[in-house]
Amino acid sequence: MAFESLTDKLQNVFKNLRSKGRLTEEDVKAALKEVKMALLEADVNFKVVKQFVKAVEERAVGVDVMNGLNPGQMVIKIVNEEMVTLMGSETTEIQMQPGKSITVIMMCGLQGAGKTTTTAKIAGKLKLKGKKPLLVACDIYRPAAIKQLQINGEKQEVDVFSMGEHHNPVDIAKASMEHAGKNGHNVVILDTAGRLHIDEDMMMELQNIKANVEVHQTLLVVDAMTGQDAVNVAKEFDEKVGIDGVVLSKMDGDTRGGAALSVKAVTGKPILYVGMGEKLSDLEQFYPDRMASRILG
Ligand code: GDP
Repeated sequence: MAFESLTDKLQNVFKNLRSKGRLTEEDVKAALKEVKMALLEADVNFKVVKQFVKAVEERAVGVDVMNGLNPGQMVIKIVNEEMVTLMGSETTEIQMQPGKSITVIMMCGLQGAGKTTTTAKIAGKLKLKGKKPLLVACDIYRPAAIKQLQINGEKQEVDVFSMGEHHNPVDIAKASMEHAGKNGHNVVILDTAGRLHIDEDMMMELQNIKANVEVHQTLLVVDAMTGQDAVNVAKEFDEKVGIDGVVLSKMDGDTRGGAALSVKAVTGKPILYVGMGEKLSDLEQFYPDRMASRILG
């Protein structure tokens, strides 16, 4: 996991606080100024940083010795708690649609974000839970994407449904539902096409799939290494297509932490999983409290 720089900086701030027996308002303010800088450098959304620091300050000014913690430790505790709140407090899981024999999940994201890989990773997780997923190749623009899904499906020992590249994604999605019904699949995961940048065609295609197939959950995969861009992408997808949750891929890479800390606050949508590598087993459930602890070191 990356974040070394953010963690180092926060630890430095806290080291100074810890050495003080009593905290004045100035001490807290000075410390929070440094926290603010550290978060901005980690590419956390500016508005999110402002709100975060304000929330911490309101609670931290005037804190006194409590529960055996000195004021410095109390501030760290408050920062930790506010970080957990920022990231959504609770862990969110993929839900099976009640009353439906098949739950439909639509995966979306920009090209290269890690969508196809994540689709196969999620299928593996669901399989472990006793589900029978069907992966559906709706990315007809990149022949390599279909092949990649098939290879990954094979590795995960889950079925892949493809109609090649000469049918439109809506027809493929519809046909896959029939296939799933006939073959006893209880989860259908649609791997949709990405583009290098957000464009109207991509959004329309996703809207069309949603208009024609009953999608129960739309998950967006964003690359954690792109920081605030990832958050902006999530906001845009949510506004145009509607998403239920986010998967942050490439958290094993050189990410500064900004996306993990901002996605929920900016979009209102939770992070469900984090991608921790290229292997199909490298997907972890996202726990806000564990993430806060990792960031604080
Ligand atoms: P798509 O275009 O969104 O479908 O992206 P792909 O699934 O093809 O992934 C693009 C690249 O990112 C591939 O080389 C993947 O192996 C890699 N990748 C995906 N997820 C992760 C991750 O969590 N960590 C790392 N390090 N690489 C990842």
